[in-house]
Amino acid sequence: MIENLLNPWVRDLVPYSTARDEFTGKASVYLDANESWYGDGVNRYPDPFCRDLRRTIERVLSIPFEMSAVGNGSDEVIDLLVRMFSAPGDSVMISRPTYGTYSVFARSHGVEVIDIPLLPSLELDADSIIRAIEEKKPKIVFICSPNNPTGRVYPIETIRRIADSNPGITAVDEAYSDFAENFTSSISLIDENPRVVVLRTLSKAYGKAGARLGILVACPEIQKAFMKMKAPYNVSLMSQREGIKALEDEGVEERVKDTVIRRKSFSAYLSTLPYVIEVFPSEANFILIRVPDAAALYDYLLARGIVLRNRSSEPMLQNTLRITIGSEEEMEELKEALDGYNR
Ligand SMILES: *Cc1c(COP(=O)(O)O)cnc(C)c1O
Repeated sequence: MIENLLNPWVRDLVPYSTARDEFTGKASVYLDANESWYGDGVNRYPDPFCRDLRRTIERVLSIPFEMSAVGNGSDEVIDLLVRMFSAPGDSVMISRPTYGTYSVFARSHGVEVIDIPLLPSLELDADSIIRAIEEKKPKIVFICSPNNPTGRVYPIETIRRIADSNPGITAVDEAYSDFAENFTSSISLIDENPRVVVLRTLSKAYGKAGARLGILVACPEIQKAFMKMKAPYNVSLMSQREGIKALEDEGVEERVKDTVIRRKSFSAYLSTLPYVIEVFPSEANFILIRVPDAAALYDYLLARGIVLRNRSSEPMLQNTLRITIGSEEEMEELKEALDGYNR
């Protein structure tokens, strides 16, 4: 059934067979891949299947080995999902305001983007989404939970309802799930509905944005199709090592906790500022605020060497700024600057 959702040319694709695919076992002389004989290990191609990293993902994140694949950041995963399941002229669905790359990758592939905007409460408009799915038949419905830039977690029941009524793929981006309390991952939906795929990343809680490590969690059929589509050596040797290091780092949990504590205390502080109109409740490692003049506050802070993200161009988010939770010192510096702002 999943077979029929894949583009036929993806279904029939014979993947590039790397030198290391064709050989299994142990050897001491590798003369199969035209690599340099000289080097410290990086002279060798990395494991195309990220096996050690995926075994660590299985052990630490409880994601079954045969259900995971690793991309060069979630960005690569999004790009490949678009190319696996949709063709130019097809459509995908998003709910703005949300993460911008779903649209960019879809459009770069000639795929139309249908926006079913969030409700004024910034919740998903499930009824409208389900109606629009029936009418427009998008190949992929992207749901970002916790959502960037609003910080909102959508109820798992809502996601399940949308996914069950969607004959296409429902892709749930959980980049910020580590920061959410009492979070139920949509991974739990895959067993009953293999059209659900989940995206995770090591860029946020695991602190490896520079290594570019995105994780696709999907039923084995989709996982296999992803493996065929991706560039043979899409994740570098250094990145695979960094990923294993990050997952095995016992300090991560503590740092995530610290981040959540600072998010809460900083949200409370922001609510006391007379010029802050709204502090959006967040389950991620950032806080969105509304002020009378976002551009002016942005410039004021920039002049003090502090960069925020102005999200005012997003629908419903006029005059909003997104604040990433940084270190204690960084938040203190921001606080001093905000205290000195009178508007
Ligand atoms: C930051 C972020 C990601 C992570 O992307 P990478 O390419 O893995 O760094 C994915 N989705 C959302 C919504 C994000 O905000």
